[in-house]
Amino acid sequence: MKNMFKFANIARRLVAVVMAAGAAAAFGGCAHGDSLGVPAAASVGAVKPLVVIDAGHGGSDGGGVSVNGVPEKGINLNIAATLSDMLRAFGYRTVLTRTADVSIYDKSAEGAGLRAQKLSDMKNRLALFNTKDAVCISVHQNRYTDPVYHGAQMFFHRENAEGAQLAECLRARICSLLQPDNQRETKPMDDELYLLCNCKNPAVMAECGFISNPEEAAMLEQEPYQRQMAFALMCGMNDFCYNTGRLNT
Ligand SMILES: [Zn+2]
Repeated sequence: MKNMFKFANIARRLVAVVMAAGAAAAFGGCAHGDSLGVPAAASVGAVKPLVVIDAGHGGSDGGGVSVNGVPEKGINLNIAATLSDMLRAFGYRTVLTRTADVSIYDKSAEGAGLRAQKLSDMKNRLALFNTKDAVCISVHQNRYTDPVYHGAQMFFHRENAEGAQLAECLRARICSLLQPDNQRETKPMDDELYLLCNCKNPAVMAECGFISNPEEAAMLEQEPYQRQMAFALMCGMNDFCYNTGRLNT
């Protein structure tokens, strides 16, 4: 039963990837790809970059809650896992910080209280982000007291020059493929965000949209839009890897 469930999940994701490939043409396609607009597959012998994808929150930490009562953690995981599948379909290596609704704290933090578990969880996510030569993205959803605000926004650490480049590539793809009216600029952060501030690799926190906005929350809670968001992120990631020479090594 468990295996059947797993297979159904994989099959659904594969269908999603194939649909995404089709969507590449419909959307006008990724740059640097073939005539269908699909990202170029890795050439023989070339090793594509490692992308570490963090699905924000998990387990007892649900993150923000949408206007419909849906916790952020599940939306983050769906987008992150689909992004991983799509990148792999194009030859990238990927690692997810979590693949289920869990916190990834050490066993030693068991029973040590929520704060100790959260610290351990973040340390473990950071260790993955600092894997040699990785490109990193942390997937989150935004929220605000005023429900009027909407649209994705990318955050990077002020001193991470490649993080800024990655943020711009992701922003550009989300705007061109999904949110043509989005005027939000990428935002440099100081030391507010632990993962960004301590990551030695290019890293971005992708706030995919506002779950405090009723229309955007309704879309972010549905798989079709989650897949579209994952596809836009994949194209942005691919643009970054191409622009920075990571696809030629
Ligand atoms: Zn979050």
